[in-house]
Amino acid sequence: MELFDTIIIGSGPAGYTAAIYASRSSLKTLVIKGNQPGGQLTTTTVIENWPGYADGIDGNELMQQMEKQAARFGTQYADGLVTKLDVAAQPFTVTVGDVAYQSKTIIIATGARSRTTDAPGETALVGRGVSTCATCDGFFYRNKDVIIVGGGDTAMEEANFLTKFAKSVKIIHRRDSFRASKIMVDRTMANPKISVIWNSAIEKFNGDGKLISVTIKNLKTNAVTEQPIGGVFLAIGHIPNTEIFQGVIDLHQNGYIKGSGVTTTNVPGVFFAGDVEDQHYRQAVTAAGAGCKAAMDVEKYLMSNK
Ligand code: FAD
Ligand code: NAP
Repeated sequence: MELFDTIIIGSGPAGYTAAIYASRSSLKTLVIKGNQPGGQLTTTTVIENWPGYADGIDGNELMQQMEKQAARFGTQYADGLVTKLDVAAQPFTVTVGDVAYQSKTIIIATGARSRTTDAPGETALVGRGVSTCATCDGFFYRNKDVIIVGGGDTAMEEANFLTKFAKSVKIIHRRDSFRASKIMVDRTMANPKISVIWNSAIEKFNGDGKLISVTIKNLKTNAVTEQPIGGVFLAIGHIPNTEIFQGVIDLHQNGYIKGSGVTTTNVPGVFFAGDVEDQHYRQAVTAAGAGCKAAMDVEKYLMSNK
């Protein structure tokens, strides 16, 4: 079986950046792309905050460029989802369906996915009026009435951010008090463009190809109303893609990787990068930065464990 210096699980900005650094340092590198080659940025259009592109860059194009850049230095690629990681003995074994790969080190860069409400109509309207990232898509909702779902810091931060573009922002929260920190709540409640619909949930997303309204249910009274709306932003948390690492490396209760230092996990030789550990920033540029750090840590580890 072919032995790699490092196998990178995931092909988002974290995984590809780790691959660029690792293969450029002459490490024999394999990236396993997963079910979303290129990662979350392939689900959006223009990325306007990736440094170096004054006019923005298409998310798919950016990720294709990263893939090519890593290939230029010798990175190899495999399609498919990793179904098992075995770290019981060196070299580690990574399984993708029926195929197994061996590696001296692993970089986990499997990212995270936004939590959704799972209300009818939602899935079909993601990217068509329903968004999971206000920082990314807010700009496209200029002068529209929009809704934010959630009651945490992200919902508060994104509601305030959206007031820069939107005509009005309504926060829908399932309880009668916010989970967010006091300072964020105070700032939100003081914003004249923001109002709150308490004790409520979206029961249905309406629209054929484009969101036109939502059906809202008051969870206390069970009253149901239909609200015409320009856009809905979901800010109800994220779910890290770590199901396959349960019992393999230490995870927080909410599934995120427990970082123990730079980019190291509790298992020597297993590293992490990007949104799979980062519960706070969740940006392409921070994920890429983490990928760089993980590759440099891998190199150091291999040098000292020759
Ligand atoms: P991801 O991009 O999530 O990549 C994870 C990778 O892991 C994927 O390739 C997936 O296939 C793979 N994977 C998962 N499970 C497995 C497995 N079992 N086996 C193998 N592979 C696996 N950020 C910005 O900075 N600017 C923006 O404009 C912006 N716009 C966004 C728009 C949208 C719609 C979304 C959803 C996010 C946006 N973001 C933006 C956030 C940004 O995309 C993420 O912060 C970034 O992609 C995280 O990179 P990552 O490499 O950690 O993970
Ligand atoms: P979060 O704190 O987990 O909050 C998620 C919110 O969504 C909660 O209010 C929750 O309601 C609601 N929710 C969850 N599932 C839902 C569902 N199915 N339907 C409707 N509502 C649902 O997540 P977050 O706001 O993304 O924050 C994550 C972490 O990042 C936190 O530690 C936060 O402090 C941090 N953060 C900090 C800042 C900052 O300091 N500037 C900014 C952003 C994020 P309940 O309250 O009823 O559970």
